[in-house]
Amino acid sequence: SDRHTSWDGTELVNDRDQDKEYVGFATLPNQVHRKSVKKGFDFTLMVAGESGLGKSTLVNSLFLTDLYKDRKLLNAEERITQTVEITKHTVDIEEKGVKLKLTIVDTPGFGDAVNNTECWKSVADYIDQQFEQYFRDESGLNRKNIQDNRVHCCLYFISPFGHGLRPLDVEFMKALHEKVNIVPVLAKADTLTPSEVKKKKIKIREEIEQYGIKIYQFPDCDSDEDEEFKQQDLELKESIPFAVIGSNTVVEAKGKRVRGRLYPWGIVEVENSAHCDFVKLRNMLVRTHMQDLKDVTRETHYENYRAQCIQSMTRMVVKERNRNKLTRESGTDFPIPVVPGVSESETEKLIREKDEEVRHADHELESHHQHDHDHDHVSLLAPSPGYSGVEINV
Ligand code: GDP
Repeated sequence: SDRHTSWDGTELVNDRDQDKEYVGFATLPNQVHRKSVKKGFDFTLMVAGESGLGKSTLVNSLFLTDLYKDRKLLNAEERITQTVEITKHTVDIEEKGVKLKLTIVDTPGFGDAVNNTECWKSVADYIDQQFEQYFRDESGLNRKNIQDNRVHCCLYFISPFGHGLRPLDVEFMKALHEKVNIVPVLAKADTLTPSEVKKKKIKIREEIEQYGIKIYQFPDCDSDEDEEFKQQDLELKESIPFAVIGSNTVVEAKGKRVRGRLYPWGIVEVENSAHCDFVKLRNMLVRTHMQDLKDVTRETHYENYRAQCIQSMTRMVVKERNRNKLTRESGTDFPIPVVPGVSESETEKLIREKDEEVRHADHELESHHQHDHDHDHVSLLAPSPGYSGVEINV
């Protein structure tokens, strides 16, 4: 090993020398790495859009490429029966010792139902429910083994047959864009020519902008990143919506067996980047942006949910507390006898009269703004002296 001599002539072994100069936190990345590898990773992907656009097929193609072909969970034949409710499939996949628990959430393909209004409702509810569960678990006693089912990404399928977005697409995405990372995809791209794909993409991007739909934004790359990386980043941004092709069959093209679609005039290869953006999409989801999708879910979407939750809980508590306070101090905390045969509005009249009495008795009350809400139950009760100036900022 590497020996050298110190000032007093004694020989030092290099690594002992190092012990003096390094505290050792340089190993932190390794420690983090080892720990997270041991724990494994998880990712939840949702697919949504009109039925028949190839959602199930694409999911199959995305994650069950040859490596996982014997997994029966996402078998195509099983999936042909149409999705009628939200279903969840989990597969544990392993690659070079790294474990990934992948959950696919399949949503009912809308468009089948006679009435499509609010078809996004059940999907939005599902996402909220996962947040709610996490919020409960996180505030509960056993925070160690929380099962995180929050949805990290939603692939939204856009029909290749329409002229850009349909009203339902706009409605759907707007209903979800504050809850989940939406990644739009242009389905069945093999039904379009390259120039049609190009035009459709531009149109859809414009419409997304025009309607104020907030799709998942790829993080901007740092200015000190190398040119190649910047170029890739730009390409990725310009691929939106990813033009995709799915297939459950392996065909032979130029002597190679590939996943593709066989037509009388030729073969469309799913994983050929000259044919579609499938590989780009998969790389984005798996290789480059999985962690960012999770971070945005946690830091933005879940945080929004959590803030709203806490806000409404605080409001409820404050309202309840005020009500108790007001009723107590205005002297109406004794039960108001409900006279049989007297309708509700008359009871209300009684309360109002009582309220007026109290109001007259107390000159210090500042209740001007309360008059505007004569019919509001709470405003029937006179605020306590000095109370009306309090603003609740939650
Ligand atoms: P889902 O209802 O959205 O899940 O759609 P499926 O995955 O069940 O696919 C519906 C039909 O479209 C099937 O017959 C598929 O073979 C076909 N299909 C799926 N993906 C593609 C594609 O990329 N291009 C074309 N042309 N057809 C596709």
